[in-house]
Amino acid sequence: MAPFHESRVAPEPIIAPANGFVANTFPDNPTDFQHDLLTWYRAHRRKLPWRESPSLYRTVVSEFMLQQTQIKTALPYFERWMTNLPDFASLAAAEESTVLKLWEGLGYYSRARNLHKMAKAFIEMPSPPRTQEAWQKLPGIGSYASAAIASIAQNLPVACVDGNVVRILSRLTANDKSFTDSGSASKSFAPLATAVLNRDEPSDHNQAMMELGATVCHRRSPLCTICPVRRHCAGSRNGDPESYPRLAPKKIKQVAVTRGWCVQKGNLLLHRIPAGAKRLAGQYELPSSDHLPIAEEATVITTKKRSITKYRITETIREIAPPSLLPDELHWVSFDDLSDITLSGPHRRWITELLD
Ligand code: SF4
Repeated sequence: MAPFHESRVAPEPIIAPANGFVANTFPDNPTDFQHDLLTWYRAHRRKLPWRESPSLYRTVVSEFMLQQTQIKTALPYFERWMTNLPDFASLAAAEESTVLKLWEGLGYYSRARNLHKMAKAFIEMPSPPRTQEAWQKLPGIGSYASAAIASIAQNLPVACVDGNVVRILSRLTANDKSFTDSGSASKSFAPLATAVLNRDEPSDHNQAMMELGATVCHRRSPLCTICPVRRHCAGSRNGDPESYPRLAPKKIKQVAVTRGWCVQKGNLLLHRIPAGAKRLAGQYELPSSDHLPIAEEATVITTKKRSITKYRITETIREIAPPSLLPDELHWVSFDDLSDITLSGPHRRWITELLD
């Protein structure tokens, strides 16, 4: 990794401050903290498409995509989205099938539907919202997204508080309080995030906090020796920054799913999720034992494991014979048409692998 702040690189371990290390009690001097953070950000920020040629639309799309998705995963999707749907008007006028196809593989498809609805509502407004509260009235925009859009795109003085910011603030203050979940931690740190917000430069300040969390103050092994705000950090000073924030471990639930693999004359049997379903409506997936009988002794083709939030899912795919009667939601889809339909990300990967 490139050194972000060479003048601050110290040769000793993070638990031993360098000579001349100034131990402030955060946030005794928010101006110094803001200055250190902003100077580093402006010199070392990553070039990202929504930063390099910013616009309100590009900020909104990036914020929807980056909920639950890492930047490196979202980048190709963002570029493809902008080529096909370059502004609010084109998004509002698009068919839902086009929107979902462009989103295919990013997961959490309610974000795509909400972004579509949001664009439809947005183009009916006489002018863009100008407060965090007004942004929250639009579909799919909650507390964090409204703060991010209002501050990043409109430079309004609103602090963003997400997992990155909670991690940084809890370490800067060596906060010992225990939290049952990340939502309660965000609420608890919101006043501090507001207190240290650079009100002259809210856009760059919020982006700098996110950048620091993403590239320096990692969840595991934070890079304290090159951190631009190390002199303000009590967590680094006490030698165990990684122990903050004190979040209760998530309760993991194991789930087992059996799916059928059924091929006939160049067609694959797929289940189409009903239009009114809460999740993945209208998308195709391999049918499960909820959709047709799958004998326990049927040959196992492959077993896949994946995680969604607190669920650890084991999916066993078994070869099955074509059913004599096809239930309503099951369809034969020609191999040639598979690229035209919307499959959820994991299902497309599995099908591609199994047809290879
Ligand atoms: S990287 Fe280290 S010094 Fe910087 S904020 Fe995180 S814990 Fe503190």
